[in-house]
Amino acid sequence: MLNIVISGAPGSGKGTQSDLIVKKYDLVHLSTGDILRAEIAKGSETGKMAEGLIAKGLFVPDDIIIEILDKAISENPTAKGFIFDGFPRTVVQAEALDSMLRKRNMRVDVMLNVDVPANELVKRLLLRGQTSGRSDDNLATVQQRIQTFEEKTLPVMQFYDRQGKHCRIKGDNSVEEVFADICAAIDQAR
Ligand code: AMP
Repeated sequence: MLNIVISGAPGSGKGTQSDLIVKKYDLVHLSTGDILRAEIAKGSETGKMAEGLIAKGLFVPDDIIIEILDKAISENPTAKGFIFDGFPRTVVQAEALDSMLRKRNMRVDVMLNVDVPANELVKRLLLRGQTSGRSDDNLATVQQRIQTFEEKTLPVMQFYDRQGKHCRIKGDNSVEEVFADICAAIDQAR
């Protein structure tokens, strides 16, 4: 079993890197952003509640996020491990993840923090907005998302620092270079 948390500001490339990690290590990819966008597309109650918050770049409440993630873990009983992408984003979520995993005799092995300077993030997200069709890839929302990320998610890094699991990855290199650094960090942690 190998469980990885991948964190990074919007535009850090964590989605691209998650896809590569999933292929190489045969993990189940759980992205709370993807799950929420699927709920919005379905028009479910959760989707309706999340839609406005996501469009403004604000966080969806912890209890909703924790519930959808717990359900997603249960739906994959034969997984060899998980990569948690975009979760946990708050310390409450990080604590909930620890207890969700503990009750299944699992644990987080490593937390990868893909670090990219803010000016590079804005550039990347506005470029992505030209083709992604995502309601939140515009300048005002991008700035709000980066600010929300910095305010709320830095304590999550400190949480994993205290557990000796936080690993900073230099994210403003090529996709291949970032992936090589990530693989080295994972192989060291398992
Ligand atoms: P992402 O695709 O990870 O960038 O997520 C897109 C948006 O979904 C975020 O800007 C938040 O509004 C919401 N979201 C995704 N994951 C979480 C989470 N773990 N906690 C709170 N909100 C989330």
